[in-house]
Amino acid sequence: MGRRMRLSPFATALLLVCVLAPCARPHVRKLAPDLYAYISENDRSANSTFLVGQHGILVVDTGLDKAEGQKLLAEIRVSSALPVQFIINTHYHPDHQGGNGVVGPEAIVISSAFTRERTLQLISKTQRTEAQSAVDDASQPAFRPATEALDHKLTVFLDDIPVEVVMVGPAHTMGDVYVYFPKQKTLATGDLYLTSSSPAMDQGSVSNWIQALNSMLRLPVDYFVPGHFDVGTPATLTRFRDYLAELYAQVEKLRRSGVSAADVRTRINMKKYVDFRQYPQFHATFADNAETIYQQLSGSHGDGRVH
Ligand SMILES: [Zn+2]
Repeated sequence: MGRRMRLSPFATALLLVCVLAPCARPHVRKLAPDLYAYISENDRSANSTFLVGQHGILVVDTGLDKAEGQKLLAEIRVSSALPVQFIINTHYHPDHQGGNGVVGPEAIVISSAFTRERTLQLISKTQRTEAQSAVDDASQPAFRPATEALDHKLTVFLDDIPVEVVMVGPAHTMGDVYVYFPKQKTLATGDLYLTSSSPAMDQGSVSNWIQALNSMLRLPVDYFVPGHFDVGTPATLTRFRDYLAELYAQVEKLRRSGVSAADVRTRINMKKYVDFRQYPQFHATFADNAETIYQQLSGSHGDGRVH
């Protein structure tokens, strides 16, 4: 008989914690031989997608700050030691681009012109903060604004692998893009789609957002990599589209019958989506979404809150 393996009390405790609540580590899922989804375990930091070519790597979104960028880079290095040649940022929110300078200090950075403009504003704000506190810690963002900005659509070739970057017009923000990998039948959505969750809404347009989701659903796609949470499918993206469309229809009807913005928050009925996450700290509850739609219908913009 072999010796029985004994775990130290510390290892036993760790094992128990990991069983009871999954250990906080990002999860990397291989969606095609050359394409990976990086699912962040930190709700405050976004997911990424990375494509490994013959001579380099293309990354979509890079996480909140230097620390999150390091975590992403470490997971990329498990699959490949090649240089990161391209970074695509889906929109300007820091949780999607704060790791740029760590993940791809030499990379070509691609975004919409609007995202680039807003990023330059974030950089000047961050520089003021850094000057005040004189810190250079891992919780600081490492922004790198776009070196190439697109107007409508751009196809990037990583060696001979096509990657389509498509602007959708005002939606989650005023300048979102999605990234489509036709050979891998995969699409990285940024925050245009979150799995089983109500989204944060910046200045944008929910009616155009719904149209953007419809155009994504017309593409031959097996996997949607969301801005946050687990990898989605056409079925889960359809449900998210239905959530927005249902809420939009309810708010429109209530508003037409003279209900105020404050009352719309409590009058909506979204029981069908009880399983969806809601985040009061990001102003991303059903009621927050309803109020944003109300404001958009009234012609006044949202307040530019950021997730
Ligand atoms: Zn986000």
